[in-house]
Amino acid sequence: MKVTEYFANAQGQTLISFEVLPPLKGGSVQDIFNVLDPLMEFKPPFVDVTYHREEFIYKKMPSGYYEKVAIRKRPGTVGICAAIMHRYGVDAVPHLICGGFTKEETENALIDLNFLNVHNVLAIRGDARKFDGKFIPEPGGHAYAIDLVRQIVDMNQGKYLDPNIENGVKTDFCIGVAGYPEKHFEAPNLETDLYYTKQKVEAGADYIVTQMFFDNEKYFDYVDRCRKLGIEVPIVPGLKPITKAYQLTSIPRMFHVDLPTELVQEFRKAKTAEAQREVGIEWCIAQSKELKAAGVPCLHYYTMGDVDTIRRIAAAVF
Ligand code: FAD
Repeated sequence: MKVTEYFANAQGQTLISFEVLPPLKGGSVQDIFNVLDPLMEFKPPFVDVTYHREEFIYKKMPSGYYEKVAIRKRPGTVGICAAIMHRYGVDAVPHLICGGFTKEETENALIDLNFLNVHNVLAIRGDARKFDGKFIPEPGGHAYAIDLVRQIVDMNQGKYLDPNIENGVKTDFCIGVAGYPEKHFEAPNLETDLYYTKQKVEAGADYIVTQMFFDNEKYFDYVDRCRKLGIEVPIVPGLKPITKAYQLTSIPRMFHVDLPTELVQEFRKAKTAEAQREVGIEWCIAQSKELKAAGVPCLHYYTMGDVDTIRRIAAAVF
């Protein structure tokens, strides 16, 4: 079923969903099951699986020189989606990115997903590769998520890249896109970012999932601004608990979000790693409860492999 159908059928009840990362290359699909098995009691109708493109690393050669090599550390998104659907009978939402894909490769990936009965996709651009400095689209690939949305919409209408394909099978993908309550870091301001988000929706995106945030007011303001601009689709809040001291600086650096003063102060007051974890969990529980009381369509948790923490939060909220 489509993500938006789950929202419609829930009739105002807040659903729960989880996002998992494919294991590092060499890992097993069991690593994913170990995360999801304990979370299935909360009955998520769908689970997102992130996509990770290749990264450059510098490898020391016998000569002493360094060679720049591209490796994909976390392959397997499509296979994991199929495994999740098979094992749990829930829908999987693969993330599909522009980076590293030509349009042809995107089309082929969508064909694979369609054959696997995957009918949901989160269409995103992807970040710049380390050492690239800025996002560089693949030659013959998409520069922005909106272009990917348009390609999926075309396939939903039976339009393939090859104009000679007549009566092509119409896929039926429900399309999610990313949204940023604290603006995307490259956007000059939130207004401009919202302008492009609205374009993604007008191009055919069915719902938005937000970047993590730690102050619910940012989410509520964001939703208000979206609605005033005529963005009517469901806006799903993405949540991630902070559980370790180093995240006070790594999360703002990596995800370009602010941490509220009160959260930082509470964290600093906590003397042990365990006490800090408790602060982060309690904060996320409080955020979740307030969002649920406000009737958000779904609480989407970025698990990042920390199943015990996410389980504690889910148990307190659902
Ligand atoms: P876009 O919507 O293309 O926007 C990128 C930037 O360009 C923004 O600043 C926007 O304002 C601007 N912009 C958009 N359209 C135009 C235009 N036509 N002209 C000029 N400027 C424009 N990354 C991964 O690699 N794998 C994942 O699985 C993954 N999952 C994610 C899930 C969620 C819910 C979120 C919020 C992010 C995820 N990301 C993932 C990170 C994402 O790839 C990055 O944030 C990326 O930098 C932007 O992606 P986007 O789809 O928002 O890009």
